[in-house]
Amino acid sequence: MTWKLTKSELDNQNLLINESLLSLGNGYLGVRGNFEEGYTDDFKSVRGTYINAFHDETEITYGEKLHAFPDKQQKLVNVIDAQSVQIFIDGERFSLFEGEVLSFERTLYLDKGYSERIIHWKSSAGKEVQLQFRRLVSFVHRELFALDIKIKPLDEIKELRIVSNVNGDVSNFVDKNDPRVASGHAKRLSVEEVKKIDRYSVIKDTTYETNLDVACISSSQVDVENHFYESHIKDGAVEEVYAVDGPVQFTKFNVYTDTLRHGENVIEEGLKIQHKIGDSIFENLLAEQKAYLDNFWSVGDVKISGDEHLQEGIRFNLYQLLQSVGKDSISNIAAKGLSGEGYEGHYFWDTEIYIFPVFLMINPEIAKNLLLQRYSILDSARERAREMGHKKGALFPWRTITGGESSAFFPAGTAQYHISADIAYSYIQYYLVTKDEEFLKDYMAEVLFETARLWVNTGHFKNGQFRIDDVTGPDEYTCIVNNNYYTNVMAKYNLLWAAKVYHSMKAKGVVATLANKLDLGLDEVDEWQKAAEKMYLPYDEKLEISAQDDSFLQKKRWDLEETPKENFPLLLNYHPLTLYRYQVCKQADTVLGHFLLEDETDYKTIKNSYDYYESITTHDSSLSYCVYSIMASKLGYQDKAYAYFNETARLDLDNIHGNTKDGLHMANMGGTWLGIVYGFAGVRVKESGLSLVPNLPKQWDSLEFHLQYQGRLIHVKMGKDGVSYSLIEGEELIFKHKGEDVTLVRGISVKK
Ligand code: BGC
Repeated sequence: MTWKLTKSELDNQNLLINESLLSLGNGYLGVRGNFEEGYTDDFKSVRGTYINAFHDETEITYGEKLHAFPDKQQKLVNVIDAQSVQIFIDGERFSLFEGEVLSFERTLYLDKGYSERIIHWKSSAGKEVQLQFRRLVSFVHRELFALDIKIKPLDEIKELRIVSNVNGDVSNFVDKNDPRVASGHAKRLSVEEVKKIDRYSVIKDTTYETNLDVACISSSQVDVENHFYESHIKDGAVEEVYAVDGPVQFTKFNVYTDTLRHGENVIEEGLKIQHKIGDSIFENLLAEQKAYLDNFWSVGDVKISGDEHLQEGIRFNLYQLLQSVGKDSISNIAAKGLSGEGYEGHYFWDTEIYIFPVFLMINPEIAKNLLLQRYSILDSARERAREMGHKKGALFPWRTITGGESSAFFPAGTAQYHISADIAYSYIQYYLVTKDEEFLKDYMAEVLFETARLWVNTGHFKNGQFRIDDVTGPDEYTCIVNNNYYTNVMAKYNLLWAAKVYHSMKAKGVVATLANKLDLGLDEVDEWQKAAEKMYLPYDEKLEISAQDDSFLQKKRWDLEETPKENFPLLLNYHPLTLYRYQVCKQADTVLGHFLLEDETDYKTIKNSYDYYESITTHDSSLSYCVYSIMASKLGYQDKAYAYFNETARLDLDNIHGNTKDGLHMANMGGTWLGIVYGFAGVRVKESGLSLVPNLPKQWDSLEFHLQYQGRLIHVKMGKDGVSYSLIEGEELIFKHKGEDVTLVRGISVKK
């Protein structure tokens, strides 16, 4: 049950949601779960195929454009559509909305990596037919999206006709009733080439502004020797027609290439890949897919016994993260992954704080590529810092694809300077988990130094304290404030580590090259150290809590009880300024700071702060519940930890935020894993080592997962009668279980 997701709805609303839920991807290529044959004419489908990071730029229009407002916004482009296949039974077009649907079910297999639709259909003329559609986006052949359709007539028929299309004349999604999806931005690709080369259908498109090419090289075949075939080129599409008079299996292999990965000659490169795939049969691709996923799940799986519903949630979420995460250091992971067009395919801090930690501990190679992608945009971050008036340092864009700041609303965009500290934090976590000294020297040091520079160039000393004014923390209902606790505490950590790394590299004699490149001297490093030590972290003596910022606690509290239910999320119903004037949080802010850097304050402050901020947090952002779950676990609020976890685990499966149709909530999906591993198992990774404080929810019988840590693979099983730890790979490890040292060696599991 829990390895598959099965759906059989046919109403418009659910179909849209299911397009996201049943989307397929491999980190490079993503295809929404549309129907090959389409829907009815009046149905607004988001028919989408995306290549991670493949984007165009659109102009941002402002009423008043002030200095250093970005001119352009990057946008993930819906690329060539190879999904389309029409089937005609004796001239009548198959559609799930016409004729009679005798049975219909679609399934996504999380352990096998493909989706399937099984249909028993009767045409208006009374001809019954069984159809099986299977599709996969290959984890093994990055560029490949394959479709397989088996059609079995149950009655005598004269002709079964298959019309398959590859269409380059595509647009991004437009909803004329939704001003947020402006129609002017819908079409971003021009069709450059449409042709047949041997048996391949070939289309090349180019983006309007960025001049990036994408090609789709498609091959198709049927398993019946005696068949009719013809192909046509029309309106930016290649159409292939097959006709047979009995059962048939039709397969279509679509190879996508793009300038970012394949250089100038996207068609030639696509043909090479097609030749390599050769005459693979769909079944072989399925076997490869299964082998890849066996490998992934052997480490990545989280087993919850005692709750199938939540088990399904965590597996689905992990699977979708794997499908969306860029694995090539050119791309990252978009807020909606490759499952939809929401947030324009942009990468946010969601990656570093919510998603990166998952891969770090189950697949460090993927985690490393995410860091490398950020490294690849360091120059843009430097440029952005200059635009923003900073003489030195790097300011990472709040939302971007290849580095250009793409946020038009600066109070909740560019002002979120914390993203630079979040990125630094993820580099530090990577180092703590992998101890990869080479990586530290080659990449991490530069990122830490440049972000540290940003902080000393943004903040200032006053009355002996280092203060950072006019930034926005994670809570987007409180913007442009002085001394946001989260930002300051993260900046402090960033600065301390930058100084530490400098000194350790200096001691090893390996800092000179980088210091020369950056024109970095000891005086600057001393300043980082001083700024960190003197960093002002706002605290309220009376409430005994960390203050979210200098002014937050002086404001009036928003009356959440009196706010009508239909006014949530508040951002859709109140002007931002109205929200800024109140104590009300969209999402975890100070509480998140307390999670990420718990040693910066005492337990009592953490607890008081949790109680305080919880009562004014709306969780209007899906990035919030998991943090409250993790911290509730830490504070012994077991029921709350469980309740918040429930909100994260099935947020998309149950469409809790009501917008799953626009794409899946990737950060929340990572948050589910965090809620388990950092929450219920109480995992922390610090300089002092690895520690766990496990607390199994009373609703569950057991919880099992693996962690990769410093070259080791550790298995943790939490049961009602205690916890058992086993070392599956690697050398002896000493870690802490509830504060007590435990030594773990291979072959002997330790029970606690
Ligand atoms: C949240 C941000 C998040 C963004 C993308 C917003 O609603 O407030 O924290 O980065 O969504 O997921």
